[in-house]
Amino acid sequence: MNEVKQPKKPLIYYYVIVLLVLMLFNFLAMPWILQRQVREVDYGTFISMTEEKQVGQVEIQAESNQIIFTDKDNTAVYKTGMVDDPDLTARLYNSGAKFSGQIIEQMSPILSFLLTWVLPIVIFIGIGQWMSKKMMDRAGGPNSMAFGMGKSNAKIYVKSSEGIRFSDVAGEDEAKENLKEIVDYLHNPNIYKEVGAAMPKGILLVGPPGTGKTMLAKAVAGEANVPFFSMSGSEFVEMFVGMGAAKVRDLFRQAKEKAPCIVFIDEIDAIGKKRDGQIGGNDEREQTLNQLLTEMDGFEENSGVILLAATNRPESLDPALTRPGRFDRRVPVELPDMKGREEILKVHARKIKVSDDADFGKVARMASGASGAELANIVNEAALRAVRSGRKVVTQADLEESIEVVIAGYQKKNAILTDKEKKIVACHEIGHALVAAMQSHSAPVQKITIVPRTSGALGYTMQVEEGEHYLMSKEEIENKIATLTGGRAAEELVFGSITTGASNDIEQATKLSRAMITRYGMSEEFDMVAMETVTNQYLGGDTSLACSAETQTQIDQQVVETVKKQHEKARRILSENRQKLDELADYLYEKETITGDEFMAILNA
Ligand code: ADP
Repeated sequence: MNEVKQPKKPLIYYYVIVLLVLMLFNFLAMPWILQRQVREVDYGTFISMTEEKQVGQVEIQAESNQIIFTDKDNTAVYKTGMVDDPDLTARLYNSGAKFSGQIIEQMSPILSFLLTWVLPIVIFIGIGQWMSKKMMDRAGGPNSMAFGMGKSNAKIYVKSSEGIRFSDVAGEDEAKENLKEIVDYLHNPNIYKEVGAAMPKGILLVGPPGTGKTMLAKAVAGEANVPFFSMSGSEFVEMFVGMGAAKVRDLFRQAKEKAPCIVFIDEIDAIGKKRDGQIGGNDEREQTLNQLLTEMDGFEENSGVILLAATNRPESLDPALTRPGRFDRRVPVELPDMKGREEILKVHARKIKVSDDADFGKVARMASGASGAELANIVNEAALRAVRSGRKVVTQADLEESIEVVIAGYQKKNAILTDKEKKIVACHEIGHALVAAMQSHSAPVQKITIVPRTSGALGYTMQVEEGEHYLMSKEEIENKIATLTGGRAAEELVFGSITTGASNDIEQATKLSRAMITRYGMSEEFDMVAMETVTNQYLGGDTSLACSAETQTQIDQQVVETVKKQHEKARRILSENRQKLDELADYLYEKETITGDEFMAILNA
């Protein structure tokens, strides 16, 4: 889609000013310019030109004591001072010069017209254009007090052949299904009107960041072939109270003019947050929200303006915004599942050259939990890696390495671990892998590496699920906790001391065991009682406790117990397989990176 600039409005006062300046120019500047055309010569030259019959026209201005004359072809104008010369008239007459009253006005009518009318118009239109551009620019700035007050400065996209279509948005089939109805409505509104069906005025796209909400909104506009207005919620909120509201009005006015069209407000939570009713709240934001609500009520159903909005914090929206008649349809745009991930990878791989060995299914499996934006990034990283190594095509290895880059950062080329540290890291990672491999409900190990990464990880063990998992059993979570504690357990067994290397494992293990107790109802004491609620589903999943201080203490005790039990289990598994642990750790120490297959081969040998 192409973004187009706002149409410039005819400013009547601007034209009046141009006219006034034009007149002034003619009265004051014109005579001056014309004067400049006249070349001053001495009387002798005049006399000799007369004698040589070179004078075309002559005008004697007695009152200003000067003679104006032209050459034979009337192309150049001269002037000279008047001298007491009684024979002048006769001489001029004899030379064939014509006597004239208004040489200056007569000279070159085209030039005169150009200078008098065309040039000034061109100059002032130029200045006017420049000024109005300045005004438009300033309208968007934070200090737009004087100019362009309350301009919405929404980006407007018009239909174009290169617009985003549904086929560019991979996966997200449910969301697309839902939005296709809107496209259909924009194509044939009459079918809906006949039945009396009304399209929802507002549709809310909710989901984690980078899942393609903006893309979907653009795709609706692209498919329906209608203009697309796009604005971010934060753009409405200005320094001065009332300006956001004015922007909302302007946006809707423009949209109604262009109907049928789509208005997209990204990050609507910036203006749509719950009004908390506190004194001294955010007046500007609330006024903007009120204006938005009023505008939404104001436009008729089936008016052809469809409002789309995106947010990743739906729970923070004001209930007035989500009530029926406003944003009453909610389209979830979730993180893609395995098939979705594969499709997204393929969509983005269209833009790059990929070798035949690339297995997008495997990459999709490895990149579990990645959003569309991350997958796009993975493909791009892979292409960059291919260029870096001087290849023309992207290989499977590029793709796999770029997953690690996106997850764990780049390889640290010059991080120098001491021999002892390297041994500890190798042992730690094999600890994770071995505990995982020895338990039945664990994802298979894909790769183990002890090459440090820019994220700070000194090594990691990558486990990849075979298929898609939507549910996790209690055993699976417990096994996961055991796997997380496996690294530390191996250090304890082999070196008899512990290091800081397990900090990330500890964090994750604690989170999991807490969730088991407070949210998944997996503890005997609390049964199916929710002790925590998730407040921020799509942004990291922050939780808030909803229980008494005594219960909290009990929860903490249980969290510790759960982790301890699993740590114990990991230690047991490792000591039962002590020989394999040493063997594998040595192998990893030597190779630095080993695959899951190599790992299994040694384990099963
Ligand atoms: P959101 O608005 O949900 O934060 P965007 O729509 O801005 O996410 O997506 C960011 C980028 O991620 C897009 O430009 C696109 O390259 C990629 N992307 C996200 N989801 C998809 C998808 N389903 N199919 C293809 N590309 C996607």
